[in-house]
Amino acid sequence: MNAPDALQPLDSIALADPAPRRTRQARAVWGSRVVTIGGDAPVRIQSMTNTDTVDVIGTAIQVKELAIAGSELVRITVNTPEAAEAVPHIREQLDRMGIDVPLVGDFHFNGHRLLTEHPAMAQALSKYRINPGNVGKGDKRDRQFAMMVEAAAKYDKCVRIGVNWGSLDQELLAQLMDENALRAEPWDAKQVMYQALIQSALSSAAYARDVGLDPNQIIISCKVSGVRDLIAVYRALSRRCDYALHLGLTEAGMGTKGTVASATALGVLLQEGIGDTIRVSLTPQPGEARTQEVVVAAEILQSLGLRAFNPSVTACPGCGRTTSTTFQELAKQIDDFLRAQMPVWKAKYPGVENMKVAVMGCIVNGPGESKHADIGISLPGTGEAPAAPVFIDGQKAMTLRGEGIATEFHAIVESYIEKRFGTPP
Ligand code: SF4
Repeated sequence: MNAPDALQPLDSIALADPAPRRTRQARAVWGSRVVTIGGDAPVRIQSMTNTDTVDVIGTAIQVKELAIAGSELVRITVNTPEAAEAVPHIREQLDRMGIDVPLVGDFHFNGHRLLTEHPAMAQALSKYRINPGNVGKGDKRDRQFAMMVEAAAKYDKCVRIGVNWGSLDQELLAQLMDENALRAEPWDAKQVMYQALIQSALSSAAYARDVGLDPNQIIISCKVSGVRDLIAVYRALSRRCDYALHLGLTEAGMGTKGTVASATALGVLLQEGIGDTIRVSLTPQPGEARTQEVVVAAEILQSLGLRAFNPSVTACPGCGRTTSTTFQELAKQIDDFLRAQMPVWKAKYPGVENMKVAVMGCIVNGPGESKHADIGISLPGTGEAPAAPVFIDGQKAMTLRGEGIATEFHAIVESYIEKRFGTPP
């Protein structure tokens, strides 16, 4: 082994802070609620319902669940006149429930008609999503796109020009493919696809501005389903424009695959300062809550240190030193407890979302990791004395013993939160 490197004096190591974002700022407004997107605004979390929009109560309930989970904008499908008629009623229902999250309308194929024929819907939404690949073909395309943009200008709404490679403008793609074939050294077909995605978004944005939209009303997305494709496209997109960027891996998939693929792609780009609002397009597993996509989005932002939503629980993976599942169960109990309380605690205990809790399995890393947390417990590993030291603000505060360790630790965490984050009387 070559030892000399280890003996060199250490250079200072740069902090891995995410690069700053440098985009324009758009606003999605409902009543007194203003959600800024881009510029110096926090990276926003979005989600989308999977209810039939015609089902006013069912959709309002799911919007509420997504909003409570942390979604700052919620998109709903507006695909038929009946869905368009339902939108203002969904909005009213949400307002009655005290949920002021801005709603985004998702339009394809007939958005121009729906937005002009249903003014109450156009007004009740805070943002429109327009897919340039799905607004019409040939000479109808520009007129129909313009009708949607005119509605946005009339009602002062922001617009996401959302290109998706599953519905890319085929006329543009064919044109770029033909041009590529004439090159002395043709590009890879994928590179032409990247170009088509970006060109479709940016030329549509330019046209929207010609029609009368302010550049600060425009948000862009170019979604693909491959991690490296998304990274390539958004790097190029961010170099070529200063519009706020909506970031997400489309059709990410289910469960672990969808979560990991989204986190990998979004993590790379967000670290580079690319992306102003994110959506994690998870396919829910049977029985899984729709809110899981919001939980994953929040975890991505929190893991990167971009935002804090919930107190974080550090737990060790366990190993041969611990043969019981006590610490796993305790870590889960604490995590579930903290998440369940957060909707109330956010208002009651400002700053509680930054708290760090450690639940560790044995003496090897337990005391050290617990000292780094605000509050931590080091459970006894196999063969260790049946005692669990608790550390508060880096100091050993007490040792728990016996059957009631979990319950006692729970109470200690609650009391710590009350003391540290509660408003003094
Ligand atoms: S803290 Fe102990 S139980 Fe947990 S992984 Fe490390 S050695 Fe294993």
